[in-house]
Amino acid sequence: MKKCNFNAGPSVLPKETVENTIKAIENFAGTGLGLMEVSHRSKEFQAVMDETVALFKELLGIPEGYSVLFLGGGASLEFCMVPYNLLEKKAAYLNTGTWANKAMKEAKLFGEVVEVASSKEANYTYIPKDYTIPTDADYFHITTNNTIFGTEIHTDIDSPVTLVADMSSDIFSRPVDVSKYGLIYGGAQKNLAPAGVTFVIVKDELLGKVSRTIPTMLDYRTHIKDGSMFNTPPVVPIYAALQTLRWLKDLGGVKEMYKRNRDKAEFLYDEIDRNKLFKGTTAEEDRSLMNICFVMNEEYQSLEAEFYQYASARGMVGIKGHRSVGGFRASTYNALPKGAVIDLVEAMREFEKAH
Ligand SMILES: *Cc1c(COP(=O)(O)O)cnc(C)c1O
Repeated sequence: MKKCNFNAGPSVLPKETVENTIKAIENFAGTGLGLMEVSHRSKEFQAVMDETVALFKELLGIPEGYSVLFLGGGASLEFCMVPYNLLEKKAAYLNTGTWANKAMKEAKLFGEVVEVASSKEANYTYIPKDYTIPTDADYFHITTNNTIFGTEIHTDIDSPVTLVADMSSDIFSRPVDVSKYGLIYGGAQKNLAPAGVTFVIVKDELLGKVSRTIPTMLDYRTHIKDGSMFNTPPVVPIYAALQTLRWLKDLGGVKEMYKRNRDKAEFLYDEIDRNKLFKGTTAEEDRSLMNICFVMNEEYQSLEAEFYQYASARGMVGIKGHRSVGGFRASTYNALPKGAVIDLVEAMREFEKAH
């Protein structure tokens, strides 16, 4: 049976990414050797690194003065690397969910953390909008897409201090004005590549300002200086990321991706709103284009397990909601074809008819 992969992460990747990576694992760049079996310092792999950085810059329109890094440790290591490198006295955080909390927890090890606003009291069903960013903060940290709760900050906000963003689950899903950010980071395994590589886009001039000593591997300047080759980088995920970026460029870049993502998300949200069995869980204006959360309406609550079975039997994978929200979550990342969303909507319609 054809599977519709709605997994939240690791998640669906373009067919081209998977196929080209398999080929390179067997025979990399015509070397007769496998991608996993050659030096990361070979000219062939250096070319992969260079093109991946170049495509990041081109596709996101990254201005001069920023570096693009590929590191290990996941977005979770960035929760500590960001304050290690940027927090001297005080940092401001917007609390929009689980990942924001994890980021705040690490920052507290390095200095004062101001939570400027939180939607915790409403189980993170919306993005707080009325708040003041302290102008004496070293930076303001946001999570642009809340993978677990299904909310998203849809615009590049204005911040009086350096803006830092965790874009793990919406990078390359829409055009971003990178010049408004000092640092953007994310794990690759939602919208870009297999797990194992973390991207960091950082404005060079922000570094070297804190007074503490930073361990070599945790200092962004180490990786800038050595072009992400201070130590052995995760070569296979980087190669796969390059394939995804080539695919994205061929399709028309982030503008085209954004159009497709809005179209897919609208199609599913429209059905959630129309169908008597279901309802969305988040404020309409903050609905994520990447992670679409919904539950059964009160009077149909008892049908939840049955719908899950029903949809699973039709090839829907990964639609169980995160335990902190319940119900269902369909992740509709860049590589998810519209056909998968159509199939899910079809399942919802037929399930409704049967009840
Ligand atoms: C998945 C996710 C993370 C954690 O990423 P790891 O690479 O597993 O550390 C952090 N932030 C957001 C928004 C995520 O979706």
